[in-house]
Amino acid sequence: MTTITSNWQAVNAAIAAARDAGRDSVNVGLLAVSKTFPAAAVREAYAAGQRAFGENYVQEAIDKMAELADLPIEWHFIGPIQSNKTRAIAEHFAWVHGVDRLKIAERLSEQRPASLPPLNICLQVNISGEDSKSGVIPAEVESLALAVAKLPNLRLRGLMAIPAPADGEAQRTPFARMRELQQKLNEHGLALDTLSMGMSHDFGAAIHEGATLVRVGTAIFGRRNYGEPT
Ligand SMILES: *Cc1c(COP(=O)(O)O)cnc(C)c1O
Repeated sequence: MTTITSNWQAVNAAIAAARDAGRDSVNVGLLAVSKTFPAAAVREAYAAGQRAFGENYVQEAIDKMAELADLPIEWHFIGPIQSNKTRAIAEHFAWVHGVDRLKIAERLSEQRPASLPPLNICLQVNISGEDSKSGVIPAEVESLALAVAKLPNLRLRGLMAIPAPADGEAQRTPFARMRELQQKLNEHGLALDTLSMGMSHDFGAAIHEGATLVRVGTAIFGRRNYGEPT
């Protein structure tokens, strides 16, 4: 068995254990974050059973998609979105997790090819209130969500966050606030089914608080060798 295969199995076992111990046993999806890793690593994880992959850099992702065109992979864009990249994102991905401005959402909707299904969107929330982090502040999530939900070629699925690093029980607080925020939006008429939260170091805490999609890179593929934003 390769390292990627055994890592992938261990992550799935940990997800199942956290889900069984969590508040509701909703299904928890695993998004394998393959940024900086070659197409061969994606192919290995696919062979193990993984189907959804997350990428942060548009050109790197498009190159990998070309190499992996024989596989029916669901590609998620999870990086910061520059407005000059929205067209490439709208043309190549099934999901976008980092939307935090209406302008970006409008461009994605306009540029989504008519031949493709609506682009699935998660709004990124700056849940820890960090100055440097991208994401809409909690007080402004509802008005952004209502506006994005009206755009024709998008399908608003839920919220996404990258909380400030924390250890132990403290990891849970921002995830619980995300769940409450999502519940409030649903009470106000939205039908959001996705909470994209939890990474290698905190996906257990995220699942305990209701994550439906965890984004895991390092625990599957190992440590990354070159820089990444944020
Ligand atoms: C890189 C990245 C991940 C994966 O992080 P790991 O700590 O390697 O699991 C998840 N989400 C986003 C938005 C990322 O940029």
